Amino acid sequence: MRGIVFDIDDTLYTRQDMLVRAAEITLGVTVPDPREFIRIFYEKSEVNMAGLESGRITTREINGWRYIETYKILGLPYSPDDGVLAADAYLELQSHMTLSDDLTDLLDKLSKIDDLKLAILTAGESKHQRNKVTMLGLDRWFAPDDIIVTGETGYTKPDIELFRMMENKLSLDPSSIWMIGDSYKHDIEGAISAGWHSVWINRRGLPSPAVSPDIEVDSDGELIKALARVFL
Ligand SMILES: [Mg+2]
Repeated sequence: MRGIVFDIDDTLYTRQDMLVRAAEITLGVTVPDPREFIRIFYEKSEVNMAGLESGRITTREINGWRYIETYKILGLPYSPDDGVLAADAYLELQSHMTLSDDLTDLLDKLSKIDDLKLAILTAGESKHQRNKVTMLGLDRWFAPDDIIVTGETGYTKPDIELFRMMENKLSLDPSSIWMIGDSYKHDIEGAISAGWHSVWINRRGLPSPAVSPDIEVDSDGELIKALARVFL
């Protein structure tokens, strides 16, 4: 018997995809290099933080500005309002999040394997994260009891207690469990110290850490291939 434990945010759905899609919807064009778009958008996100934190700039304004700066650098055609309109489109997309078809297909296949248990370990406030489970339709594969939300436990990732709680829940040895997550510090470091296997989704191409996960991937496509290789 083995187990796979998934993180949710930027693991089972991507904020990054939604940021790009919001620009595409607003501009009515396809962004040719989404990774480069995200790289620039995140770089711009470091600027004006002080203004945001002091309340001089609203989130809508700053996101609008980040979009405009990114359009400029990438030479995308835009009108002055297309920054804040993309920021609005992003908020709207967030309220209709869905899993990709490929991931849905993979979870269908994994859930049919008899000697495999699927679970979720996610950080955040209980109600918010459990709503997200419902919104994403994850309840199709994960029963409420197979989900640990850190806000319900008094621990935060990557506290080893969370990983031990999950082992007890699944009745599995550490070496039979795989953690799948996008945050090296929160998901992968914790899993490695607990003696679990791990797949790190390094979406932003961060430098490889000293202690490596079993598998490192850089996209959903690669993640799906890796999980199919190990489990199907
Ligand atoms: Mg995450």
